[in-house]
Amino acid sequence: TAALTSHLKDPSLITDALAALPESSAQFEVFDPATGALLATLPDMGAAGAQAAVDRASQAQGAWAGETAGARSRILRRWYELILAHADDLAAILTAEMGKPLAESASEVAHAAAYVEWYAEEAKRIYGETFPAPGNDRRMLVIKQPVGVTGTITPWNFPASMVARKVSPALAVGCTTVLKPAEQTPLVALALHALARQAGFPDGVFNLVLSSQGEPVGRVLCAHPKVRKISFTGSTEVGRHLMRQCADQIKKMSLELGGHAPFIVFADADLDAAVDGAIQAKFRNGGQTCVSANRLFVEAPVYDAFVERFAEATRRLKVGNGFDAGTAIGPLIDRAAFEKVSAHVDEALADGARLMTGGGRIGESGTLYAPTVLSEVTASMRVAREETFGPVAPILRFEDPAEVVSMANDTEYGLAAYFYATELKKVWRVAEALDYGMVGINTGRMSSEAAPFGGVKQSGMGREGSRHGAEEYLDMKYLCMGNI
Ligand code: ADP
Repeated sequence: TAALTSHLKDPSLITDALAALPESSAQFEVFDPATGALLATLPDMGAAGAQAAVDRASQAQGAWAGETAGARSRILRRWYELILAHADDLAAILTAEMGKPLAESASEVAHAAAYVEWYAEEAKRIYGETFPAPGNDRRMLVIKQPVGVTGTITPWNFPASMVARKVSPALAVGCTTVLKPAEQTPLVALALHALARQAGFPDGVFNLVLSSQGEPVGRVLCAHPKVRKISFTGSTEVGRHLMRQCADQIKKMSLELGGHAPFIVFADADLDAAVDGAIQAKFRNGGQTCVSANRLFVEAPVYDAFVERFAEATRRLKVGNGFDAGTAIGPLIDRAAFEKVSAHVDEALADGARLMTGGGRIGESGTLYAPTVLSEVTASMRVAREETFGPVAPILRFEDPAEVVSMANDTEYGLAAYFYATELKKVWRVAEALDYGMVGINTGRMSSEAAPFGGVKQSGMGREGSRHGAEEYLDMKYLCMGNI
């Protein structure tokens, strides 16, 4: 673990958590994607571990749901304070296992903490409803109750904030949970779980299952009758698979799946702001986010000016190890990701796109891909049709605002869209016409604990953040009192 602990001020957070893990003959390893160094060897708990975790969660469920909202809130708040107290080390663990620049990891940890704080507060604000009855002899009302045991499956690209934004609303409203973090990035989840234990969640309320594979754990979570809800963030393909598995028991689901975000720049936009926003929306996390701008559409009169300024800004982004000062883009998560990004770029160039900057590996080996800008891209190219999940910006030209909205909507995905414009009427019309769960207007960044994050179409269902994120973990029960 030296490759990991050398980055930490207080290594005991992770070394104690590792030491407390159960012995197992099956194990799996976690590597630093920037250096290939081995960070940790973990027990592969698999299906049996998931089964045991669900059993613990279902035993704890009744008592946890029966706690007062204030008691749950106070434990969440302690978890939040512990996350803040260990923020630097959590960020370092995140960079070590995932590769993103340390400053981005710090901002992700702050974002994760913000969800925990939000739901510590929201725990106390779960209100019911009353309804005027049609007859005077009865009273009609709704109470909200936790759905029960929940299964949480998270991805590698935001390994801290995805855990926080699913687990904290579940725990806040009185659900227990079984968390299966991504196999590439289980260490920050392990550390967050250790801090939650310190914060005082009772045994069985928050259970962690480490596994080298999602499938066996997912199968148990979907098949176990005690699990009442699955919350998943990851690929659309796996989301579909989980949904099929949940069909037998009509399990509730929150699914946050793939995206194919359009980023539209209209001729009346503030171009400097649009360039800044596009840099953020495209290159944050090296383009490895489900809300990354995947297709940039620029109106003809400002096309050349935008491409030039955007390529210029892109050339200034430093690529390298996330621990090095000034790094803006870290390595891609693995070789497969690298191959996909390369293939998208090479095919686009063969089909007539123009390379403005980037376009290949940085260094002799590894998965550092140069931030890349392609102009003269057309809608039929694969780079403009599939989610690239890397630092590649394909820029398309459009002539007519009506045409660009239909091009932007021409995808099975519907997570995030962005556009830059100033004319008020157009801003409203375009915002309403985009078939997306979230629209960033004159901004390239919109995720917040205070707002509902989620998609439409094949980008998923359900929302995370805000009071809507708590509703996802609550059932509505209608009470009708007669003969009054
Ligand atoms: P990504 O493309 O981000 O790796 P995945 O959807 O493959 O997305 O992975 C997201 C999470 O889903 C990870 O925790 C992974 O282990 C888990 N996972 C992958 N396949 C399955 C499956 N068949 N059932 C349940 N979970 C899965």
